Amino acid sequence: MVKKVIHWFRQDLRLSDNPAFLAACEAGDVLPVYILDDVNSGEASMGAASRVWLHHSLESLQKSLQGNLQVFAGNPQIILENLIKTHKIDAVHWNRCYEPWRIQRDKHLKEWLQESGVEVGSFNGSLLWEPWEVLKKDDTPYKVFTPFYRRGCLAAAPPHDPLPAPSTMSFIKTDEENSPITSLKLLPEISWDRSIIEYWHFGEDAAQEKLDIFLNNGLSDYKDGRNFPAQKNVSQLSPYLHFGEISPNQIWTAARQSGSDRNVDHFCSELGWREFSHNLLYFNPELPEQNLQSKFDNFQWRYSDDDLKAWQQGQTGYPIVDAGMRELWQTGYMHNRVRMIVGSFLVKNLLLDWRLGERWFWDCLVDADMANNSAGWQWIAGCGADAAPYFRIFNPVTQGQKFDKTGDYTRKYVPELKNMPEKYLFNPWEAPQAVLEQAGVVLGENYPQPVIDIKQSRERALNAFQDLKVGEFVER
Ligand code: FAD
Repeated sequence: MVKKVIHWFRQDLRLSDNPAFLAACEAGDVLPVYILDDVNSGEASMGAASRVWLHHSLESLQKSLQGNLQVFAGNPQIILENLIKTHKIDAVHWNRCYEPWRIQRDKHLKEWLQESGVEVGSFNGSLLWEPWEVLKKDDTPYKVFTPFYRRGCLAAAPPHDPLPAPSTMSFIKTDEENSPITSLKLLPEISWDRSIIEYWHFGEDAAQEKLDIFLNNGLSDYKDGRNFPAQKNVSQLSPYLHFGEISPNQIWTAARQSGSDRNVDHFCSELGWREFSHNLLYFNPELPEQNLQSKFDNFQWRYSDDDLKAWQQGQTGYPIVDAGMRELWQTGYMHNRVRMIVGSFLVKNLLLDWRLGERWFWDCLVDADMANNSAGWQWIAGCGADAAPYFRIFNPVTQGQKFDKTGDYTRKYVPELKNMPEKYLFNPWEAPQAVLEQAGVVLGENYPQPVIDIKQSRERALNAFQDLKVGEFVER
């Protein structure tokens, strides 16, 4: 019997390797829908840069679906109820999401649909291994990455080969014209998003192109090259992965098929970090707000709106930090090495609460992802699982000198310093007056004085964190 199936697109904005959509197409006639749910999300409501990405990604998906995608904003239960009644729907399909608020919502919806006599098809389209598939021998979750990945993931069933896109798609016809993507009002009223739109291509084809470019040009020196922000050795697949324009299966399989060496292994292990973060979030739903290690709860964070603003605006006077924060603002992305540098600067040098950084990233990143973002910030602050120890404080001067040796990355995003010689690029306050003059830099006028002394702030952080007796791991 031909069924009428709603496929509810969420974080799976693609047609290929989409198990729920493929099953819907195989079952019968499909009504593809996207629902912008700001009703159930609460504090976790999508940030501004993510909304820009989503808009363009939906435009691309709409083309792939030949104009048949219906978009809505509101409470999914009410919207689904109307659609089910109007089109006499037999089943609703989706790929599972793992943020706590979505899990709660989906659990409720599943019960309600089943009670209403509507079949529910829920699939794994976003992870290589779902959280409950990777547990320790005693059935408790892992807390340390290496055993999680080696003993858990790599010992489990390997990721399956990617599924094809449906060979035929038969859509449920509707009388009314579909609302345009613009009806979701995802784009900002003041167009600060131009540089983001120019920087990226959106959608499933663009994701595959990004993957191909990376496999051909970046992967062969990934292990070492991934540390250098001016080099093209990272994939920049994170926003596509977050919105599901490409699946981790597709990336993992393509990387493995391209060869086997330490670079491929390392790249796959970074996909493993994504799995680890999702696993952490699943078993610790409070991860975005609460320190995983409770002894951090009494930590006395500083309050300084001025310092926070300087950090957010890339005006700290530390060139590699400012370059990272401006890359974030201009592109919606930041290289991983620089995420660690700016994160350490906020949390350790400025002693500002990691949640302030998490929130800013949430709003500005096009790859803002609840699991990766909160796990990343807790790692930096030292309060997370398998986190950086408190005495690991990134020195923004030596990090710049080591990982941006020629200064190409820093000069690109901090053009005020484009004529500074390498010797003083990362510490312009130490440059002799003549060097500053020749480079056209007037500290405090066209580039800020450092907001804080790096040595003193390091000492302050070490003392503050030492008081927590961070040596012992006390879990919540
Ligand atoms: P590649 O090096 O090409 O790696 C491939 C993929 O592996 C990435 O796309 C990503 O999905 C995954 N990955 C790589 N590194 C990590 C990691 N450390 N943790 C989890 N997954 C990883 N990543 C996000 O996707 N969204 C976030 O909101 C986010 N916030 C972060 C905040 C902080 C403070 C830190 C330190 C890291 C954060 N990360 C986040 C992780 C990491 O920085 C990005 O995933 C990575 O920089 C994305 O670039 P890429 O796709 O070129 O990575």
